[in-house]
Amino acid sequence: MPPVETKQDIQYEAVIGLEVHAQLKTASKIFCGCSTKFGAASNSQTCPICLGMPGVLPVLNRRVLEMAVKTGLALHCKISPYSRFARKNYFYPDLPKGYQISQYELPLCEHGYLEVALPAGQAGESGRIKRIGIRRAHMEEDAGKNLHEGLEAASHVDLNRAGVPLLEIVSEPDIRSVDEAVAYLKALRAVLVYLDVCDGNMEEGSLRCEPNLSLRPVGQKEFGTRVELKNINSFRFVQKAMEYELRRQEKLLREGGRVVQETRLWNTEKEITVVMRGKEEAHDYRYFPEPDLVPLMIPADLINEIRKTLPELPDAKRERFAREYGIPVYDAEVLTTSRDLAHYFEACVAMYPQPKTISNWIMTELLRELNNRGQEIADCPIPPERFAGLLKLIEDGTISGKIAKAVFEEMYRTGRPAGEIVKEKGLVQISDAGAIETLVDDVLGAHPNERESYRQGKTQLLGFFVGQVMKRSQGKANPGKVNELLKKKLGEEKK
Ligand SMILES: [Zn+2]
Repeated sequence: MPPVETKQDIQYEAVIGLEVHAQLKTASKIFCGCSTKFGAASNSQTCPICLGMPGVLPVLNRRVLEMAVKTGLALHCKISPYSRFARKNYFYPDLPKGYQISQYELPLCEHGYLEVALPAGQAGESGRIKRIGIRRAHMEEDAGKNLHEGLEAASHVDLNRAGVPLLEIVSEPDIRSVDEAVAYLKALRAVLVYLDVCDGNMEEGSLRCEPNLSLRPVGQKEFGTRVELKNINSFRFVQKAMEYELRRQEKLLREGGRVVQETRLWNTEKEITVVMRGKEEAHDYRYFPEPDLVPLMIPADLINEIRKTLPELPDAKRERFAREYGIPVYDAEVLTTSRDLAHYFEACVAMYPQPKTISNWIMTELLRELNNRGQEIADCPIPPERFAGLLKLIEDGTISGKIAKAVFEEMYRTGRPAGEIVKEKGLVQISDAGAIETLVDDVLGAHPNERESYRQGKTQLLGFFVGQVMKRSQGKANPGKVNELLKKKLGEEKK
């Protein structure tokens, strides 16, 4: 009799799709002239159109269309020459018209893809590229915001956000792990920021992500029952929420339970997902064509004009960096996450043509300083020529790599050039043979016991002696020369 397979033996695989809402960076709203500026006094940026007064007519903001087409092209989508707006009906206090103008049957962009670079896997992979399908991208208006704050037992509605333009970008369920989902989200954010169509700020709500997740036994073709997650407002929370949700589903399945199709919210404090609404309460939006807006006919000329304005995109730049500078794909991915960072890298390489050295310094020292301070590369007080200046000092032996890290920190803090700091603090590397010999002799004289052990064959003590000399020189001795001289002297004693 074959062994009975239990639920414990099954290997599960995640199936993830992401729905992203990106706020387009227009000065005015999608169907009226109100400002989209963030942070204004409640309801100060409203008019009869975005307040949903009877008898008003929406007019499409041309910039919204241009930005949406530009994004669609960057995501390799087919741009529909004919598309249409639809009314999505639901009742909620922050939705003054009782419906949201969106696109349903005929979206603007369809059938695209985004390529993402994944970090090296366990199987010794050196980083790989995965293509994730984009099902559709369409324009719609945002809703307002309910405010439940203050001591009074009342809620308020702020309609400044009502009518702000959004692009909803829906991926195919091609994503197979949380890491892939995060990589996709970062790559998508990079594209939007490169195109200058969205500021990519998740905390301010200009980029929102709603993942849908399910599990299936490895090898099974059909998808499992999926759960949608809402209310997540940072990259870190998206990752945590997805990890939690997959663990929850796996436990349920292993215990012989069943995943229920529902929408769940991420609870930031408890770090769990909780039910928002079940399938029984699922909305039937009763979409129908928006009668107040004419269907969109997009001439091929306009699409071609917009295509000409596309900058070099992150995936093309990443591919070029890896090829042209001979750096690993993963380095290229990190360096091209923002246009400014990529530009900084290239400016440094132009002045100091050793791309891998520069990449290492940017990915460790520079990004650490930026992250610690919550800054962007635009805030970096070290211009590329000074960065190159520091690396040249290491190359010509003026300072050691270790001292250079301390000098770098000082440069970041003060904005001063490396040479000036090195001179002022007397950090010039000691390479003079006589000076190094004095240091080496001092150390050997101070440690007769270790010398004896070395003579007996404990040669791993070499590291100890090097460390002592470096310490005595306050890190300034040229480590290569110290090593060489110590080996020579200790070797002679051995004979
Ligand atoms: Zn308005």
